[in-house]
This record gives sequence, structure tokens and C-alpha cells, in this order.
Amino acid sequence: MDFSWFQKLKHHVHNGRMPEAVSMVAEAERAAPGNVYVTLGRGYIAYFKYDYSEAMRLSAVAIEAARAAGDKVAESYALCSQADALMLLGNRDDSLAAANVALEVACAAGDKITESYALHSQADALLMLGRNEEALTAATGAAEAARAAGDKVAESYALRTQADALRMVNRYEESLAAANGAAEAARAAETKLAETNALRTQAEALRMLGRYEEALAAATGALEAARAAGNKLTESNALNSQAEALRMLGRYDEALAAATNALEAARATGNKLTETNALRVQVLVMSQLGLSADRDKVLARLAGLDPSLAQRLARVPLRPGWDPLVRRIIKAKAEREAEFNRILKQDPQPLALPDGFLGKFVVLRKWASYTTVDLMRDAPGAGGADTGTCGGGYFLWWDGWGLVIDPGLGFGKAFRSAGLVPRHVSAVVATHHHIDHTGDMLPVLTCIFEMNPGAMPAHQVDFVLSPGAFGAFAGVAAYVPGVRSVQLLRPNESINLNCGPNPVALQGVKAVHRDLTGRDDASIGLRINISSQDGTAVCSIGFSGDTRLVKESAELYKDVDLMVVHIGSIYEYDVGEGKEPWHLGFAGAVTLLEEIKKRSRPDWDPLVLVSEWGEELGPDRTKICEAIISAVELRVFPAELLQSVGLKPNRAEALCTAKDGKIADRWHTGTSGDIEYWCDGHDSLPKRNEASP
Ligand SMILES: [Zn+2]
Ligand SMILES: [Zn+2]
Repeated sequence: MDFSWFQKLKHHVHNGRMPEAVSMVAEAERAAPGNVYVTLGRGYIAYFKYDYSEAMRLSAVAIEAARAAGDKVAESYALCSQADALMLLGNRDDSLAAANVALEVACAAGDKITESYALHSQADALLMLGRNEEALTAATGAAEAARAAGDKVAESYALRTQADALRMVNRYEESLAAANGAAEAARAAETKLAETNALRTQAEALRMLGRYEEALAAATGALEAARAAGNKLTESNALNSQAEALRMLGRYDEALAAATNALEAARATGNKLTETNALRVQVLVMSQLGLSADRDKVLARLAGLDPSLAQRLARVPLRPGWDPLVRRIIKAKAEREAEFNRILKQDPQPLALPDGFLGKFVVLRKWASYTTVDLMRDAPGAGGADTGTCGGGYFLWWDGWGLVIDPGLGFGKAFRSAGLVPRHVSAVVATHHHIDHTGDMLPVLTCIFEMNPGAMPAHQVDFVLSPGAFGAFAGVAAYVPGVRSVQLLRPNESINLNCGPNPVALQGVKAVHRDLTGRDDASIGLRINISSQDGTAVCSIGFSGDTRLVKESAELYKDVDLMVVHIGSIYEYDVGEGKEPWHLGFAGAVTLLEEIKKRSRPDWDPLVLVSEWGEELGPDRTKICEAIISAVELRVFPAELLQSVGLKPNRAEALCTAKDGKIADRWHTGTSGDIEYWCDGHDSLPKRNEASP
């Protein structure tokens, strides 16, 4: 008599062939009295005859015998049986303790099947204790061990528990997927008991997703499998699931009948938990039917089993119409959650680019800070025009690695409009603490938080923050699961982010700009260097950030392929003398570009994006760009919300607004007043940039 004999015995029990199982044990007892597996088998049969005290006693005998024989596999299995019996006797802490020892013994034995069972018992105990995240980890481990051992029964049980744990942490879609896997494994193992458990979990996931018809079908399948397994406990559970689904479908009379049958089946097993659950469903259905007197009777019975549950249920509104309302709300909530999760989990698609291009710089902002802070103006009834208060930011993509630059107010919306999803983000950098640069930092952190619900991070993001932004966000970012690193970047310092296919270095550049810290030295500009694996420079981007003119900063921007300058506005004293503005202004932008040009190689031909427009510049943005072009003779484009630049080794090109994957060579004010980038295909337009009148 060994473990495989025991597995065969279990197969009989799981498929409702109790007489065969009993005679197998009787025969084995004659052949090998006192054999540890025979004792385990007797305990197993007692367990399935709902005699948990006898199962407890026999598991203790088996543990002793296994230890005496030095059989670790049998010992681990006996400990699991003890844990399961303790669970059904309502002793959760001791059940977990037994499962923990079972796991230790199984690991010492190096046996994957028993390891899987031990992890499964552990997960069940953790679930009963409400330690759902830990239960999920244990159940996931159990499924892995079962797969490694090639044991379909163990796999099915592990996946079913995983599905339960996922449901408890509100991850319903994943719960359903795990339950489907459990049902498949149960069918492959031809085990009715595992099948009924899997189908019942499936029904519960479907119900949480608001898919009540399918939930009813799954619960009905679970009931059939439970009857085939000849198991009253699972039959009662399946009937309860059926009653719940029927209740949600408004079929109250049938629901009440199913709940009453569930109660009968539960009584046959003497299992208090199942009985409690059946009474619970009865109360809910009676409330809906307005059966006040019947409900009071059931509540009184329930009070003897679970007084606090009875108290809670006594507060359920006793009136028709309540259930359809609850049903509608639960369904709507499930749909919202599913949509949110769909966005969070969506795979990042490669960005559309012309041939030969590897990277993209997407403009996700429009106006400057004092516009975005002025939220009240756009409120309905406030009398102002909706100017689209989009502070936003930028997104840099290079060969699968994505960097968010300055997620200001409105960034999240613009990011989604550009077809980007949270999993596109590998790192976040903020150059100073103003609302148009950091206003959407909390939505960004929230997405990262939601993407990493478990103990193991699913999607990690690095944070690089200017002194001002570090002061504001490092504290919260450091605790967000999924945030891998939070680093402070000061002028003339450099941080390497070696997490994509290409090493990326972020270099801080001196900026003078008074942010919310009240200081003018807490802001930075940026130079972003993307290199190949051997360290050769591939592409570089300069980003002035918000700053007044700092001539020496030009040194760090020399030879960049793309230069982004934040103009701010046009200032009364915008001649580079006297009282200086907090932004570059026209003169500052021209001077900075001239200074960079002086220091760069003779054939330097960067693309220049002029950005951070004051709202008052509106349609005159194009005229200002014309004036900058005549002053510096470079390829200058006005930055516009959702326009983008293609990047390839040592070259940046504006991308056509209308024609996917085409290079643009001019810009133009479109009919909506937005700036569009146009390519050669737009023959109706002049070749040059649109001239000023
Ligand atoms: Zn700004
Ligand atoms: Zn600013």
C-alpha cells in the first residue's frame, strides 16, 4: 500500500463510488494491518462521510505511523488531512498551523504532489482567516507544484482555490479564468468532486461579473457533478450557488426552492458553514418576496449559528424591488471595474512610426500653468469658454521603453487620447513642481498602484524627480507598489535607467524658475541620452523645462537631435535685459538656440519644438515660430497637443498629422484652430511653412 494506492482510493471517493472505496480499504487492512496509507484511506472515507472527529483521530494516528516509518510523503499528507478536518470543525488557526507543517515536510521530501496539496490546504486556511493576498500566493504556488508534478486533480484544486482568492481581492475576470482552468483540469482527471467545486467557483465569478444567466448554468453544472460525486456537502454548496443566481435573475420562487434544498443537504452533512450559507440565501430571497414571518423564523435559526450574520441580515430591506436595484448597481459596477482593469492590463502596442524610426516623442500638453490652474472658468455656468485647460506633458518612446515627462494637469486624458495605456510607462520624470508639470502625478501613481495589486510587482516604474518634485512626491511614490526606484536629479547630475533594450541617461540641466517650493533653484532642464548597448550615443533630446534664460545651460544641449524649448509667453521686458521673466520668452528662446548652435557641430540640424504656450498666444503661435525661424534658421515646429516627432539614430522628424507614418516638413493652422503637421502628400499647400500675413 503506497501513495498511488491512496490516489486510486481517492479517485473512487471523488466519483461517488464509496462502496468500492470502502472495500478497497477493508481488503488492504487484511493484507497490511496498520499500514500508514490504509490509515490515511480510513480517515479519508471518514472525512467524506462527514465524520470530522474520526477523520481528525485517524490523521493523528497516521502522522505518528508516518513519522515512525520515516515516510515524509505520508506524513505531509496526514498533516493536510488534519488541516482539512480542523477547517471543517471551524478551527482555522490550528488548521493553518497543520498546513504549514505539512508544507515543511513536503518540501523536505521533495515531492511536488504533496507540496501542492500542502500549499492548497494552507491557501484554504488563509482564505478562511481573511488573509486573501497570502492565500493567493499559496494557491498560485500550489498550482505551479501540481503542474510540475503533472497531477491534474491537485491542479484543479489549486486553481479553484486561486479563483476563490482572486474573487476575494475583487479580480473577477482573473478569478473566472482560474475557475475555467480548474474545471478543465477536473475534467481531464475525470474527477466529479473537483469538477463540482470548480464549476461552483466559476458560478460565483460569473455572478460577481453580473453574468447571471451563465452563473446559473455553471451552478446547475456544479449540482449535476456534485450528485454524480455522491457528495452532500458540495451538493449543498452547488444548490446555494444556484439559489444566488436565481435570486439575481429575479426568479425568487425557484431561488427559495433551491435554498431550501441546500439547507436539507447541508443538514445531512452536519456542516455548520454550509447550513449558515443556505439560511443566508433563504433570508435574502424571503426579504425580496416580503415574507416577513418566514424570514423572522429563519433569522432566529441563523442567530444560533452565526449571530453577527443574523444581525446584519436583519437590516436587509424587507421589500420587493430591492433586489433588481441591487442587481443593476452590481452589474454596472462590475462593468466599470472590468473596463478599468482592461485598460490597466492592456498590452502596450508599438507606436506607429515611419520605416527606420525607433522612437517617438509625443506632445501631450497645450497651455501653460496659469491656464491650467484656472479650472473654475470652464465650469458649466461660469460664463467662460471651454479652452481645454490641458497642461499635460510629454511621452518619449524608444524601442519598447516609455518615459513620461512632466505629467501635468490633463496629462491622463491626453495620454489616453494618444492611444497609450499605463503599461507603456517604464519611467516618469518631473522637472519642477507646477500644476502643468505635476498636476496628474497622483493619477499616474494610482495607475501604477492598481497595476500591482499582488505581493509580486507586475509592472515596475522608475521615478526621477527634480528637487521641487522630489519634495512633493518622493514620500508617496516610495510606498506605491510597482514603483521600483525614486531618484533625485539635480543640475549637472546624471541618472542611468538601464531597464529597456537601450541604456538611457537623464542629465539634470540648470534652470531658474520659481516653483511651488518658493525657490528658483528647485527646477531642472533635461538632456536625455539614449545609447546602444556598447555605449555609443544613438539619440539625444534636450528639454529646457520652464526656466529663464541660463546661457551656460546651452553647453549641455549641444548636438541634440530634438530640442524642446518652453517659451511661456511674450513679455513686455522680453529683450533679455532688466527684470527677467520666469520663462524663456521670445528673446530667451532665440538666445538659447543661438548659444546651443554656437557650441554644436557645424552641420547641426535639430528639430526644435517650441512649447508651453501661454493661452493668450492662441493662433499667434505660428507667427512666433516664423519669427524664431528667421532668427535661428533651424527646423522649428510649434508643439501642439497630440502632435508627435519620430526619432531614429541621430535624427528627429516631425510626423504628419493626417497620414500615418509620413514625415512632415511644414505646419499649418487647421480649421479647428489647432496646429497640424503636414507632409509632401498635402499638395494643396505651399511648400514652406505657412507665411505670416
Ligand atoms: Zn510650465
Ligand atoms: Zn513652471
